[in-house]
Formats: sequence, C-alpha cells, structure tokens
Amino acid sequence: MTTRLYDEATPRKLAHFINGKLHAGDGQRWGDIFNPATGEIVSQVPLGSTADVDAALQAATAALPGWADTTPLRRARIMFKFKELLEKNADEIAAMITHEHGKVLSDAKGELTRGIEVVEFACGIPHLLKGEYSDQVGGGVDSWSIRQPVGVCAGITPFNFPVMVPMWMFPMALACGNTFILKPSERDPSPSLMLAELLREAGLPDGVFNVVHGDKTVVDALLTDPRVAAVSFVGSTPIAQYIYATGTAHGKRVQALGGAKNHMVVMPDADLDLTVDSLMGAAYGSAGERCMAISVAVAVGDIADELVKRMVEKTRNLNIGPGTDPNADMGPLVTRTHYDKVKAYVDQGVKEGAMLVVDGRDFKVAGHEGGFFLGGCMFDKVKPSMRIYQEEIFGPVLSVVRVPDLDAAISLINAHEFGNGVAVFTGSGNTAREFSRRISVGMVGINVPIPVPMAFHSFGGWKHSLFGDHSVHGPEGVRFYTRLKTMTARWPQQGELSANPFIMPTH
Ligand code: NAD
Repeated sequence: MTTRLYDEATPRKLAHFINGKLHAGDGQRWGDIFNPATGEIVSQVPLGSTADVDAALQAATAALPGWADTTPLRRARIMFKFKELLEKNADEIAAMITHEHGKVLSDAKGELTRGIEVVEFACGIPHLLKGEYSDQVGGGVDSWSIRQPVGVCAGITPFNFPVMVPMWMFPMALACGNTFILKPSERDPSPSLMLAELLREAGLPDGVFNVVHGDKTVVDALLTDPRVAAVSFVGSTPIAQYIYATGTAHGKRVQALGGAKNHMVVMPDADLDLTVDSLMGAAYGSAGERCMAISVAVAVGDIADELVKRMVEKTRNLNIGPGTDPNADMGPLVTRTHYDKVKAYVDQGVKEGAMLVVDGRDFKVAGHEGGFFLGGCMFDKVKPSMRIYQEEIFGPVLSVVRVPDLDAAISLINAHEFGNGVAVFTGSGNTAREFSRRISVGMVGINVPIPVPMAFHSFGGWKHSLFGDHSVHGPEGVRFYTRLKTMTARWPQQGELSANPFIMPTH
C-alpha cells in the first residue's frame, strides 16, 4: 500500500493528494521529517504553494455539487467501507504514526481507535440529518427544517495526533455532504496520505477529500479564499487565535481549538493508588504531548507529601525508549526544536525557584543517542506566578501546586488562561458534584484523568482552549458542518385566500 504513496528516494519525498491522485507541486520548498527515536531525517514533505491550494480548491469545488447531492445513505456506506479498511490497515497506520511522531505503538493504535469511533458515528448520518417537522404551525401551514452541507471545508491539524485529530473533522464533514481539504502538520504528515488513499479505496469520488501539505503559505491561502466555507483548526493558542480572527474576517465559519494546561485536583479523601496510577499515565503518556495531558497536579490539604513521594518514585522508574519497544511507557519528543523548548522550560522552572524533585534533563537511551528523549521531570511547590505554571510546556513535565482546600483549587483553575480538560480525584460525590458545577473548563473528569468525550459526544474546551461556538465531532460536528434551512409551507384549496396579508399572522 505505502509503495503507491512514496517514491524510493532516501529520504522519501512525499506529495500532496489532490483530485484522487498524488500531486507533486512545484518542488520549490521542502520540510524535513525526522524519526524522533534516532534523530534521522526519514522523509521530506513538500511545503505547498498557493498554486497547490488552488488546484485542491478547484477539485473540491468541482466535486461539491455531486457529493452534496449523494444520498446520506450512500455517503454512510462509504464511511462503513472506510472503517473496515482502517481496521484492516491498523498496524501499518500505527507504525507510520510511531515512525514520525515517536509515541509508543500501543498509544498510536489507541489514537487510531479514537479516530475510527468518529467514523462509526458518521456512519449514522442518515439518522443525524433527519431534521425537525412541525405540523400545523398555523391554519393549514406546516414547517420543517433540514441541514444542508456548508460547502468546501478545510482542516488544519497539529503534530500530536496525526490521525485522530484529522478524523475528528473530515468523517463528519464528508458524511454531511461537504468536500474537504486537509492541511496536516508538516512534522508527521505521512498518515494523512494513507487516510486519503483508503478513502479513495472505499469509493469516495475524486476531489471530495484532498491533502495539501505545507506551512503558513497554505494556511493563509485557505483562510482567505472565498471558495472555502468553513475552517476547523486544532493547534496552539496563538495560531488558533490567528486562524479564528482571519477566517471569520473572511466570512468563514471557524472552530479553532487551542492549547491547554490541564489540572488534576487530588482531594485528601482520594484513593491514592488509583490517583498515582492515573496521574502517571496522564502526565507522561505520549511524553506529555497531548492536549488533554495533565500538566498540573493540585494537591489539596495534607495529601501533598504522600502524593509527591509516590510520584517521585514512579517518575524516576518510567520506562522510556523508542516507540517500537513494547515495554516503553513513553517515547521521545517530536523534534529537536521541541525537545530544546521543553528542556528550556525545565531550566526556567529551576530559575524561578520551583523544586525540581525529578530531573530528566540528562536522560539518554543507549543505542539511540541521537533521539529526542527527555526523561520525566517533576516540580513541587510550583507557584501560580511562575511561567512553568502559566504556559503550556507540552512535554513530560509535571508541576505540583499545593493548596489548602477545594475552594482554593477551584479559584486557581478558574483563573487560568486555558480551560480544556480538568480532573478531580475524590471519594466524595458531593465534592465531585460541587467541583464539576463550579469549574470553568469544557471537559471534566471525576476519578477519570483524561476525560476525552466519546465520538457521540463532542470535544471542546473553554476560554483560550477554543475559539468559535462549536466543539468538534458528535452532535456539535453535525451542526458545524451543516447549515440550517427552515421551510414554511401552505397548500391552499384553489380560491382560498389568506387572512389580511398586511398584518403579521397571529395564527
Ligand atoms: P501549531 O499551532 O504549531 O500547529 C498547528 C497547525 O498550524 C499546523 O498544521 C501548522 O502547520 C499550522 N501553523 C503553524 N504556525 C502557523 C502560522 N504561523 N500560520 C498558519 N498556520 C500555522 O501546533 P502543534 O505544535 O502542531 O501542536 C501542538 C499544539 O496543539 C499544542 O498547543 C496542543 O495543546 C494543541 N492541541 C490542542 C488540542 C485541543 O483539542 N485543544 C488537540 C491537540 C493539540
């Protein structure tokens, strides 16, 4: 399968995917893709031009009327077939993710499964598009509403979930009758080509799904072109803000999901074994490169000392290695640049006076000295004024903040810029209820560390973690990718007149 997607050169040179086939582009600008476990350049991705975006837009615009008119049932059948192909090719897709992202294989498979769940939800599109009907809204008058596709949609996605995040978007957009242009992360773009190929194999007509690789040039062309009706973005907050402002200024519907700083509140009555296990996975899984990773533990009252003691021991014993090692808990960071940024935050925390109780800065994996591995790091006694508390680090760095009670924990979290996910670990239903009602965060876990909503709910944060009115996938995804149209109809008998047509009808 992959032989169809790549040439034989070393490093491999990727192509765009436009109108059902690979599209080379002008070959002027290229980005390097690394294997994070070795540090080697494994592929190069074309950084697209405005001409490449134009080619994709022409294809997506031409394919739109036919696809929008295809019955939802037929669209669903292609999604069923796509799901089957994803399952059949799961090992290869997961290997591709690990190869360019670095996360461990089991986690790559987990990411794919979460993406497949969105496809499963999209298979129910005939039911989801049923609309509403009111009989007799006035004498002899009926009214009903339907949802129609918005048009050509664009998706701009981050490096940390090269399969799941695009699949939060395009299965819903396509099932709703839209055509789609994906601009994947330039750091791990290969899996998106495989998804394009599998969609084609599932029977998706040419031009309905396209992939244009690149950077700001491609993104800006998509944001400003009048042929694009809607833009979905997931990435860091400064870029999310830019996408939202630019896209809406150009008349587009935009949902832009940004960064995060997710807290886990540990109450004195929490089950500490469960809490420590959950916190380890949530803080260090995928090397902390998850938008729902827990990066702050808020220790309430006298639980702090015991929590820190147990976490220190486990963090020191993390098993770190290449993503292909079945025993590894976490792999390397995605690039050298990102590694340097995360490490600089650890240096900054030390400078700011936080207590670095586990220092992973000198960590090395034997035989993988060129890889971007950082050991697990943990700070205690972090203060809200510190940059390591305020900013998203996006690496294996956990901060512990100590507070006296639940009220202080809630005030701390509600004052933070971000509001993606949060968790509370407690043995008290009353505390959990109080916390979940008062907290200003979009997704809340109760004794669940990473409360990612399932595909049939919707995913989205608050505050600077989401710009726009709609979360992704689930019922919100259907609303985002469709426009509401409401009909009001009367079929009078011949010669029957309406009431005084100059007056607002009062039924
Ligand atoms: P990023 O913001 O650097 O890049 C995201 C996308 O934007 C990429 O496709 C990139 O090519 C493009 N981009 C980058 N700079 C741009 C610019 N100046 N103009 C136009 N486009 C630009 O994010 P990343 O480093 O790839 O991903 C990590 C970030 O994504 C973290 O902040 C993480 O929290 C966030 N994220 C959020 C969610 C969520 O659900 N809220 C989910 C996953 C990741």
